[in-house]
Amino acid sequence: MNADIVAASQELKEGGVVVLPTETVYGLAANALDREAVRKIFAIKGRPLNNPLILHVLDSSWLERYSHVKKYSIRAKKITGAFWPGPITIILPKKAVIPDIVTASFSTVAIRSPDHPIFRAVLLASNLPLAAPSANPFGYVSPTCIGQVKATFGDRVKVMLDGGECAVGLESTILDITGTVPKILRPGAITADAISKVLEEDVVDYDVQIVSENPNAPGQLKQHYCTNTRLVLFEHGNRDLSQYFAGKTAIVFVQRPKNFDGIAKNLQLPAEAILWFSDDGDLNAVAKNLFSTLQRLDSAPYDTILCERPPREEIGIAIDDRLSRAAAKFEQ
Ligand code: AMP
Ligand code: MG
Repeated sequence: MNADIVAASQELKEGGVVVLPTETVYGLAANALDREAVRKIFAIKGRPLNNPLILHVLDSSWLERYSHVKKYSIRAKKITGAFWPGPITIILPKKAVIPDIVTASFSTVAIRSPDHPIFRAVLLASNLPLAAPSANPFGYVSPTCIGQVKATFGDRVKVMLDGGECAVGLESTILDITGTVPKILRPGAITADAISKVLEEDVVDYDVQIVSENPNAPGQLKQHYCTNTRLVLFEHGNRDLSQYFAGKTAIVFVQRPKNFDGIAKNLQLPAEAILWFSDDGDLNAVAKNLFSTLQRLDSAPYDTILCERPPREEIGIAIDDRLSRAAAKFEQ
């Protein structure tokens, strides 16, 4: 077996925390059955203890070990059959073997099977369920490459495995299947329509309004994924942008502007201050580049990052969710 996989697995068995790549974002992983190991994740991230973690498993055969899945097995089978391994997390009643610290004392547990060969190899080698939030300080932009993680946690975590750039770039869709109607708690790459087709029943889509009215729902924070630099969003297609300039400003468009020279001249910005998430506007590419672009601009000397909202369709709903929460810190 690959030495890195052995080292990560060993570290996890000894109660350590390791950095692992997933297809969504990089994760800070620990043995979910070991209370003290999980506590270290919260300490390293500075994450409040009332914010539950996602349990990562190899496949659907592990659901029985950690959750009371029986009552929901038809839905669970359909979802895991269609989308696992992949970027969707399901909520199920938890079994007592999962310590309360993982679920922030909720009686339910969030579970998913990640689709990255390195993460999967570590699950297989350790045979442990891994609790893993994103590998960033609490509230900051999520990391989609190892460089970002090393820069922040390089001196605190011994084992960090490089799995390249994350293919999806956004956190998983979270789906609660325990209610009368299944409900999306966090939008992601897998949309309500796709889920509804697979389940052959209606699904309650994610609703910002409902979320902001339920501040006690786990992890539904109005402010999250925040840059340090002031982030201001503008509507898709708006090109009347100089009104938003404040200090040294950079702009990120969803797609490469067709008349780039004209736009740069109009806005009187140097070329390097005009970026785009995707060459052709493909929303999956936007998602993949979202956090790394924001992070890159955040570490450059700008006073304001102006960012175009994506069309609110398909994965654009999840992208817009992340951007809105990131910009919420600067709204006043
Ligand atoms: P992350 O912040 O990407 O690590 O994902 C963790 C998120 O999963 C939390 O912030 C919650 O939104 C969600 N979550 C985890 N456990 C539960 C649960 N038992 N019920 C509802 N949502 C949960
Ligand atoms: Mg996170």
